[in-house]
Amino acid sequence: MPPPSIVSKLPRVGTTIFTVMSSLATELGAVNLGQGFPDYPMNEELIALVSEAMKSGFNQYAHMNGLPALCAVLAEKFHDLYGTSVDPRSQITITPGGTYAIYTALTTILRPGDEVIVFEPAYDSYIPNIEINGAIPVRIDLRFPDYQVDWPEVRRRITPKTRAIMINSPHNPTGSVLSAADMEELRAIVRDTEIFIISDEVYEHLIFDDIPHQSILRYPDLLERSFVSFSFGKVYHCTGWKLGYSVSSPDLMNEFRKVHQFNCFSCHTPSQVALSKFLTNKESYLSLGTFMQKKRDFFHDRMLASRFTPLPSRGSYFQLYKYDRISDESDKDLAIRITKEYGVATIPVSAFYQSGKDDKVIRFCFAKKEETLEKAAERLIKI
Ligand code: PMP
Ligand code: GLN
Repeated sequence: MPPPSIVSKLPRVGTTIFTVMSSLATELGAVNLGQGFPDYPMNEELIALVSEAMKSGFNQYAHMNGLPALCAVLAEKFHDLYGTSVDPRSQITITPGGTYAIYTALTTILRPGDEVIVFEPAYDSYIPNIEINGAIPVRIDLRFPDYQVDWPEVRRRITPKTRAIMINSPHNPTGSVLSAADMEELRAIVRDTEIFIISDEVYEHLIFDDIPHQSILRYPDLLERSFVSFSFGKVYHCTGWKLGYSVSSPDLMNEFRKVHQFNCFSCHTPSQVALSKFLTNKESYLSLGTFMQKKRDFFHDRMLASRFTPLPSRGSYFQLYKYDRISDESDKDLAIRITKEYGVATIPVSAFYQSGKDDKVIRFCFAKKEETLEKAAERLIKI
């Protein structure tokens, strides 16, 4: 008898664009401004703290919810930054990355047939995460070219089956951020409903020009119906650590942990010990926005000599560029051609739309060494 075959739960899913473009960049030796990961060294002190933790014997399972000392320092940070009291024992769970935190939150709340409002362009894991739970993504385009939320459209698309709204600020891939007015709109929409909010805040701290981050944690009434996802990997320049956390109300977190405990159970102990010490220095996170803004500005300034047109980046690792002065190719064709002919890998923004909607925009990751950004810009201005 032949081996059993799988009826795919995700028949439309292929290999993610990040892996496709990174593989092409490696194959061709191109400068990789595609996939979002830093190419500069992470903080030496944090590395030393991990190795110290290992040498000191912190090598066994951490608490299922996360190392208590790390949860405590995070709660303190939330209080300082957002003025909200979060109970470190019942409201924070350390997870293996932000993506896992989002997946676990969706798996905790969704039942087959539920609808989830998701804004596009959307980070590529959201829709497969919804669909694998038998739920239905209700896709709403952010308004081009400023990528703002069309709240009247959100109102129109809510039905009795709407189970959740997903938000992401600072936003990947556009670098747009939600304002206080956006949060008020959201608040008004969900009030008196049973709608949850899944808030992806993995680029917390990486927000520019003194704009305040509108975390859900600023809004205790919203937190009661939210799962908020964060990533240590993204903010501390160690994406390979795959460590993050989820924050919610005690009741919701209790359910989240039922899913978490039989999937991952607990996360890498030495990194948690190290981070619990590292975060006691508030500069470790307060300096991150300025650090990344310098990179955005460095790349932006060098690209002024090119024929690409920048769209504003207010946060994240990313800057979008229109290329209508260069070509009318599709963004995918252009991204591949630039990698092959000019040796710079980028990400076509159509990959963040299920429909493949192509506004002729490509994404550059500026979380790179200045010399990498310089080299890429030197090549891009020749196009
Ligand atoms: N959400 C967004 C918007 C991201 O860009 C990323 C980065 N990969 C993640 C979630 C996931 O972060 P992590 O690597 O911690 O899973
Ligand atoms: N968040 C990263 C990006 O948008 C990629 C992470 C991944 O490859 N899954 O580029």
